[in-house]
Amino acid sequence: RGSYASDSSDSVISTSSEADSQVYKVVLLGEHGVGKSSLARVFGGVEDASHDCDEAGNTYDRSMLVDEEEASIVLYDIWEQDNSQWLKDQCMRMGDAYIIVYSVTDKSSFEKASELRIQLRRARQSENIPIILVGNKSDLVRSREVSVDEGSACAVVFDCKFIETSASLHHNVQDLFEGIVRQIRLRKDSKEE
Ligand code: GDP
Ligand code: MG
Repeated sequence: RGSYASDSSDSVISTSSEADSQVYKVVLLGEHGVGKSSLARVFGGVEDASHDCDEAGNTYDRSMLVDEEEASIVLYDIWEQDNSQWLKDQCMRMGDAYIIVYSVTDKSSFEKASELRIQLRRARQSENIPIILVGNKSDLVRSREVSVDEGSACAVVFDCKFIETSASLHHNVQDLFEGIVRQIRLRKDSKEE
């Protein structure tokens, strides 16, 4: 519990004088090709679709108003930046919240998502970290391999939230990030009691 508090309080990063202003670190996890970078670009407001290449990892800063309260998020799209175990370990340690992405058109990415959930639980055992399971590419109706029911059942088993998105259509992406902020706030409030 003590280590959670020091991880998430970000007193060094926060430059505002407001006591409750804070930067939340959100980390994207998931297999290659599921749409992590696409979701991150929608979040970051990067309109340029020609940017659709696999370059090194990126981070995106954004403030958003959620339930009339400002929240600052740094979104890390660095999971695939290199193949080092060091980076993977670092990713598992650094987040205040996680977005585990699979593609609804790719069953094996769905299975990988479960693995990542287990790894995350192992890495952060005593902590109750907010996690959202995301089934992306919901627009690709004809090539769907994972149903909505399978996705939400998995989320129940793994005790995390669930949403389907389409980065291409920008569908549910805003909801996803608002959901993350609400979850972080909820866990925080329950810890402070
Ligand atoms: P990453 O490897 O997880 O970062 O995945 P990318 O964001 O690079 O996306 C992989 C491919 O899937 C790219 O060609 C994207 O244009 C495509 N893609 C990503 N999200 C969606 C989506 O919601 N719908 C569709 N149809 N394609 C998507
Ligand atoms: Mg990527």
